[in-house]
Amino acid sequence: MSDSLLAAQTDICVKCGLCLPHCPTYLKTQNENESPRGRLSLIQGWARDELTASPKLTGHVDNCLLCRACESVCPAYVPYGQIVDRFRSATHEQPRSQPLSLRLKKSAMRGVLTGRTLAPLAGRLLSGSLAGATKSLAGLTGAGNLTDGLPPSSARPLPTPGSYPSGLAAEKGVVSLFQGCTADLADRDTVHAAIRLMNGLGFRVDIPERQTCCGALHQHAGESASAAERIRQNLQAFENPKSQAIVSFASGCGVMLREYDQTAPSEASSRFSERFRDISQFLAEQEWPGDLQLEPLPRTVCLHSPCSLKNVLRADRHAATLLNYIPGLKVVTLPAETRCCGAAGSYMVDHPDMAATLRDDVLDRIAEIQPTSLLTSNPGCAMHLRAGLKRRGLAHIEVLHPVALLARQLPG
Ligand code: SF4
Ligand code: SF4
Repeated sequence: MSDSLLAAQTDICVKCGLCLPHCPTYLKTQNENESPRGRLSLIQGWARDELTASPKLTGHVDNCLLCRACESVCPAYVPYGQIVDRFRSATHEQPRSQPLSLRLKKSAMRGVLTGRTLAPLAGRLLSGSLAGATKSLAGLTGAGNLTDGLPPSSARPLPTPGSYPSGLAAEKGVVSLFQGCTADLADRDTVHAAIRLMNGLGFRVDIPERQTCCGALHQHAGESASAAERIRQNLQAFENPKSQAIVSFASGCGVMLREYDQTAPSEASSRFSERFRDISQFLAEQEWPGDLQLEPLPRTVCLHSPCSLKNVLRADRHAATLLNYIPGLKVVTLPAETRCCGAAGSYMVDHPDMAATLRDDVLDRIAEIQPTSLLTSNPGCAMHLRAGLKRRGLAHIEVLHPVALLARQLPG
């Protein structure tokens, strides 16, 4: 089946190969079919009706992490993420090279984590309040990695939808907070921290009740109709003319939210994408009141930059800026050549071997630094890395979001 748009988009690639040294799967396999250039050639062959979407061909494209490191260095501006999403959507019904059992696990995990009715149940199961059933859910969804990677359960419940005023007579404005599917499971403290910090800077925080999953897991799995339905619901939920920004603390969701205008072009999606900010970027862009002094913390922490924050949102510098507000804190960033940790949405579940291999490289760097905490802005990376640290006997390294650490250092 030819696809003229994909044929034209893949034709932008001039085959220079500059992306190859940045591609985690190519570096591990040294196989051109596992590189950006190779995958683009395969997709182009299919789009021009020269190749069929065989399990082997789709397998090479499905092995892509969608880390988009290639896109960030491409001199021809090949829209690599868009191309892969479109190809996966167009070939969604084709037989895949992955065993059926693995695809069922991936699908079950997506359903459990992102379903409105199932997510709270998953939270209770995975956090242990229904401990007897936890193992069976983990087995069903292949989520052993997730259960190992969950943070210690917070005593505080997830903030409910509603409006959280700053307490100031003259507020600076209103911000809408996107929570994502895993907030109750893994990010309660981050949500509390985000509200406290934005309130502290003078903003009222709104958590819209009708918000839903960003749609990223569906979009990247080729389920574009399911993703479109979630986009439609979020556009409605966040259409508040008084709110000046839509803020997310999960950079993986953030990429999807920022690109709503490309995935589903409309006036509403353009407004949405324009208002979107990653939480660290939003906080760093604000003027901090002179009397808002953070408590000192004489420790060394390691700052991990998720691919989504670094390669697509291009907002990885803001967390370091904010952490410098904490007196005495030593922030060590991972070396620039550090690649994707392998979490990559559902990749850690459906490509466990490659995900673990890539994680090992990141954990080696972290072990050299020996921080007290590892800070990362994406819940998927946090869970994957936390599980890896546990397996290495490094569970004493706490994994948390940079804003959670910042909020801890607020006075009082
Ligand atoms: S850097 Fe861009 S143009 Fe060059 S091979 Fe990679 S995708 Fe193609
Ligand atoms: S998105 Fe990442 S894994 Fe996929 S081809 Fe590009 S660099 Fe390689």
